[in-house]
Amino acid sequence: MIPLNGGDLHIPWQKELARAFTTPEQLLDYLGLDHGPWLEGFAARRLFPMRVPKPFADKMHPGDPADPLLRQVLPLAGEFTEVPGFVTDPLDEHDSALPGLLHKYRSRVLLVLRGGCAVNCRYCFRRHFPYADNSPGQGGWQPAVDYIAAHAEINEVILSGGDPLMAKDEHIAALLSELECIPHLKRLRIHSRLPVVIPTRLTGTLRERLSQSRLRPVLVVHVNHANEIDQDLAGRLQQWQRAGITLLNQSVLLAGVNDDADALEALSERLFEAGVLPYYVHQLDKVAGAAHFAVSDDHARALMARLLERLPGFLVPRLVREIGGEVSKTPLDLNLEPVKDTPCMIR
Ligand code: SF4
Repeated sequence: MIPLNGGDLHIPWQKELARAFTTPEQLLDYLGLDHGPWLEGFAARRLFPMRVPKPFADKMHPGDPADPLLRQVLPLAGEFTEVPGFVTDPLDEHDSALPGLLHKYRSRVLLVLRGGCAVNCRYCFRRHFPYADNSPGQGGWQPAVDYIAAHAEINEVILSGGDPLMAKDEHIAALLSELECIPHLKRLRIHSRLPVVIPTRLTGTLRERLSQSRLRPVLVVHVNHANEIDQDLAGRLQQWQRAGITLLNQSVLLAGVNDDADALEALSERLFEAGVLPYYVHQLDKVAGAAHFAVSDDHARALMARLLERLPGFLVPRLVREIGGEVSKTPLDLNLEPVKDTPCMIR
């Protein structure tokens, strides 16, 4: 049962961070799995450290080597395979307007609030991102706030990372107070996977601060599989939705995780039950070390066509790809046959 204050009877999220699994051996032992099949991949931690909070591991099936959540976080030998087209900076992000600020889209800026994440997803497009050079420096976020104030075309600030919810509630609240003073801003969007891996991060304090803001708050959670939404997370998300915070999801299409219609259908249904609308499903960004997660465009299109048959349109996320330098995400054309002879006019 979730306490009304947002869940503070549970282990605080900072403590969960501190006791995350950081080696494959620890996680495999916890799940009762032999090390043998994965030994070769253990060294991939050198390419990108491993980090898996215990509440996320608790959503995996013990003894199942094909668990879709395990596959997202376990270092694999495939990360050493060099594949043409898979590069360290697939979205041309490593040059920013200011340290900590990416002005990718005309009306929106990305503010890198924290470099680290609670979980290290092996497919992450920022696994090679130089956070040390792109985090707010000694001046904190003030230069970024000044930049936003000086650019009247910006109406939305997107807190990004790393994971922005790695910042403490009071830091987020202080930044929000500064952003609220900029008259041309309308929205604050937070992209985070932290609630998915440590649900107690959805604190009542942060929920209340956001719901009282002049800026319309949007939380985009990053869920890739229905098993990631347990009862605890669903309950907390519903509380945030009831507080007036728009909840959206974006996921990444990942081979061996969610590249079948049943998995995607279950994900959309589960998201909606938790008060979250499926928003985007991304084709994998071609980052070096993650080629084994790639799904072909043809298969991705076929999956989306199947979802359109099974689900109402509002539960079908848009299939998109990010292309470095483009001013928005690029939808993948589904090439669908037009609908003929609809027997009912209400659609
Ligand atoms: S939470 Fe997001 S930014 Fe962090 S490692 Fe995972 S995919 Fe990358």
